[in-house]
Amino acid sequence: QYAVGIDIGGTKTAIGLIDSNGQVLAKTALPTGSEPSHMVDEIAAAVNKLIGDAGFSASSLKGIGIGAPGPLDTKKGIIAEPPNLREWWGFPIVDSMKRYFSVPITFENDATAAALAERWVGAGRETDHFVFITVSTGIGAGIFSHGKLLTGATGNAGDIGHIVIDPSVGTCPCGQKGCLEFIASGTAIARMASELVGREISSKEAFDLAFSGENAEVKELIDRVFRYIGVGCVTMINTLDPELVIIGGGVSQVGAPLFDAVTDYIQKHALNPSGRRTRVVPAALSQDAGLIGAAALIHIDYK
Ligand code: ADP
Ligand code: ZN
Repeated sequence: QYAVGIDIGGTKTAIGLIDSNGQVLAKTALPTGSEPSHMVDEIAAAVNKLIGDAGFSASSLKGIGIGAPGPLDTKKGIIAEPPNLREWWGFPIVDSMKRYFSVPITFENDATAAALAERWVGAGRETDHFVFITVSTGIGAGIFSHGKLLTGATGNAGDIGHIVIDPSVGTCPCGQKGCLEFIASGTAIARMASELVGREISSKEAFDLAFSGENAEVKELIDRVFRYIGVGCVTMINTLDPELVIIGGGVSQVGAPLFDAVTDYIQKHALNPSGRRTRVVPAALSQDAGLIGAAALIHIDYK
């Protein structure tokens, strides 16, 4: 049996067929359109084409898992108000998909689904208690606790991008001051580093300037950002008592400097002795994490 995974993102929507071992059998991607009901037509057509081209029978399709950015409402099956999918606000994605398919359809936020992917075939295979944090354009987390996903009442648990870390840095678009996402995401690193050097640079260029020794101010900024991520991790560790923290997303590509800094911060500041020993590891899945996570919502009993 196979499942369909659909990962709706700000720019593209990835669609795949995933078997019960977490293998991606076939996949495709569409640009995420601004007309959601039209987009659902296209998604349904793409799913049927993938199944047809692969020569699978529709009867062995176990279900369709959908991941999308939050805020959403999994109780109602709607995409609520994700900042980078404005045209989709309030769209009933689950009911719309049900018009095309009669198999079970599950729906969770993308970071939560990616956490389940890490548990299934990634860095979280060995533990029933871990937090997956993605540091990319924004910052989000998926929480796996007691062998189950912790989704919250409406699927929005783990939105750690908006825990307050340092109010002195400025006001986040959400209205709070000093949110983690506003001061430590890839977007934030690029914004703050660009201010320092007086031209537009990416977060990757900021890391290059910092670690080549070329710019001491940018190095200080990056050290501060890694400490902020450490503070976020300690908050999660003190709250949830995980055995493992998995960090993924584009910014985690920087590798050892981030993982060493966060590990060091946790060793110093987590409140309890076992918390201070929490391991911090890179995500094992990168580009297909969203797809595999969406399909995992069907293959795995996660609730
Ligand atoms: P998305 O947010 O769409 O899921 P990514 O996870 O690739 O995409 O995250 C994009 C963010 O990560 C951008 O802010 C980008 O600058 C940053 N990023 C991507 N690759 C790297 C890298 N190798 N080093 C540092 N930052 C990176
Ligand atoms: Zn915020």
